[in-house]
Amino acid sequence: MPAWAIAVVSIGGVLLLLIFIVLIRTMLFRPKKRAKDEEKPASIDKEKAVTSLQALIRCKTISTSDHKDEDKNEFVKLKETLRTTYPLVFKNCEYQELGPKELLFHLKGKNGDEKHPAIFMAHFDVVSVEPDRWTEDPFAGVRKNGVLYGRGTIDTKGTLNGTLRGCEELLLHGERPEHDFYFAFAGDEEVAGGSAKLAVKYFKDHSIDPYLVIDEGGAVVNGIFPGVKKNTALIGTAEKGACAMEFHLDGEGGHASAPAPHTPVGRLGKLAVDIEDHPFHFILSEPVREMFDILGRESTFTYRMIFANLWLFKPILNKLTKKSGGQLNALVRTTVALTQMEGSKATNIIPTKAMIGLNMRLMPPDSVEYASARLKKLSDKNGIASTPIFSYAWNPSRISTTKSEGYSKIKNAIEGTWGDDTLVSPYMMTACADARFYGEISDKVYRFSAMKLRPEQMEMIHGDNEQLNDEQIAETVEFYYRLMRSL
Ligand SMILES: [Zn+2]
Repeated sequence: MPAWAIAVVSIGGVLLLLIFIVLIRTMLFRPKKRAKDEEKPASIDKEKAVTSLQALIRCKTISTSDHKDEDKNEFVKLKETLRTTYPLVFKNCEYQELGPKELLFHLKGKNGDEKHPAIFMAHFDVVSVEPDRWTEDPFAGVRKNGVLYGRGTIDTKGTLNGTLRGCEELLLHGERPEHDFYFAFAGDEEVAGGSAKLAVKYFKDHSIDPYLVIDEGGAVVNGIFPGVKKNTALIGTAEKGACAMEFHLDGEGGHASAPAPHTPVGRLGKLAVDIEDHPFHFILSEPVREMFDILGRESTFTYRMIFANLWLFKPILNKLTKKSGGQLNALVRTTVALTQMEGSKATNIIPTKAMIGLNMRLMPPDSVEYASARLKKLSDKNGIASTPIFSYAWNPSRISTTKSEGYSKIKNAIEGTWGDDTLVSPYMMTACADARFYGEISDKVYRFSAMKLRPEQMEMIHGDNEQLNDEQIAETVEFYYRLMRSL
């Protein structure tokens, strides 16, 4: 056989082998058998679940970056409402305020182990509203046709109510958990006020190593993963970092009739395009790798083939996500969104000052230092030597383990509440929550908003007509009751 024929035959052989391996791996990439836990029924008072949340909605606890603009009375009213709405919690828990915006409850468990409690987090402040865009008063607690309207129903007085109502149910049923519980609620999460840090300091000072920490995060949703039709509960085991940067440029200014070849606006525009043309590298972080492994198995053949063979298809996935942007892309790299641009006020004036502003979300292990240095390099290349200005910046959170008892118990409570066919998967949260501060004391921090949400409800978070129906509100309480009972 001539040499070229041997080459063709061996290349063909390698290709066939490759296809064979890819197909075998795809075939074997099927959902893992799940050990089923026998779940006891959990009956809760559904009407009380709704009326308690309704009472919280009626407190107009809007956070503003300038605290002077806040209505302090509404925050006082909320604290009083907690006392009257959840009497058994107050009767059985030690209660203290670590700061004006950080409430801490402590329930003693049966095992006497004070160092490994379960910590339940939520925030009781909300973002502002544009009342004209709402069909109902956002703070009146309007209940209509089985739906409760109100700012904060989803984000996140719903889980605040879930925690406290769940605990009321536990105590009503005369059940005491094995573990100690702490409820740590902040009143300035929406403006990144950092009161949650007071609780972290308290736990650190008391050498507490939590059994688990649960805070807002992913929900039970549908249609979030290509080719998967089952309901999926997403538990954020980490969150991306965030960084806001501005580049400013001073120029000569002048009249638009006799411009230089490049004005400050043109030069910053060129930098903006350059930044967009240089996306960050592909990173398969642990939460996303686990997510692809769990949900990929449930998907259609093509996606199963891709996710079962990432060793081969990673470059293709990298290219596809770079091109598509959006949610999937945000799960595999640090993203940059150009958000601001300022020049002169009139079209016939060349500005003496111009700026662009951007928002970065950092995928671990990319740090603020690394990511901003990368952009600085691009700005230097474009001859824009100004030092970037940071409005805020923090690194990605620590990554939590899914191999803890706490994670399994959350998973069981999810399956007990929303049914065994609900998929449970870790994920990388692209938004921010107070939970990130807890990385300092624990690798068992889970971000899960225990609600089954319809796609349009996702838009209502920080948007208009935020609402939950009676069934959703009751399910949240049931989830917490189930989880607490198992701890
Ligand atoms: Zn929130």
